[in-house]
Amino acid sequence: MHSIDLSAISDAAIQACESIAQEAGVNLKDCYQCGKCSAGCPLSDGMDLMPREVIRYLQLGMIDQVLEAKTPWICAQCVVCSSRCPQSVDICSVMRAVRLASKHAGKRPVPEADIFDDEFIANVKAHGVSNEQYLAAAYNLKSGHLMQDMGNATRMLKRKMVGVAMHNTEGRRDVAALIDRALEADAARRAAAEAKDGEA
Ligand code: SF4
Ligand code: SF4
Repeated sequence: MHSIDLSAISDAAIQACESIAQEAGVNLKDCYQCGKCSAGCPLSDGMDLMPREVIRYLQLGMIDQVLEAKTPWICAQCVVCSSRCPQSVDICSVMRAVRLASKHAGKRPVPEADIFDDEFIANVKAHGVSNEQYLAAAYNLKSGHLMQDMGNATRMLKRKMVGVAMHNTEGRRDVAALIDRALEADAARRAAAEAKDGEA
């Protein structure tokens, strides 16, 4: 166990943690560190911080440890943690908010997850639906993992589970407009939060 010098934590760091909590719609004080969220998380084996620890660091204002953690980028947003929390802390939303904050801070501790996110959104925006075969190809190219899942791809092609045909939905322009609105709303919310932080 290592000691933490709480006096070294700045007001700005505490405010940044509070902003993440507000974005996620949670009150950090509600968490009493029971650990039920960590115990139920199906991906905890691959995480560098347990979900409980992410909340604890946020409570303490330790923003750097949170933004540099791999955990929010590994989180699959399955909502098990939020549903198990006896205090109704929506940890799943916290993970999402941390991930956005980490991305905006230029951290990206798991770059592959960031690449996949961007490619998935671009794929759905272009076609109205995800074309997995092209999503996988774009991800492999951008991530540099050129041969990733090629064995599976060959088997899926043989069994006609995927094909080379591109699928486009009729409402793809509406889907693209929806995605644009969501991205604009996120940018506006973030700009407002940064302006507020600047005034503080
Ligand atoms: S389950 Fe809820 S109260 Fe318990 S550690 Fe996790 S967030 Fe905190
Ligand atoms: S939402 Fe994320 S942190 Fe919560 S249980 Fe699922 S994978 Fe784990």
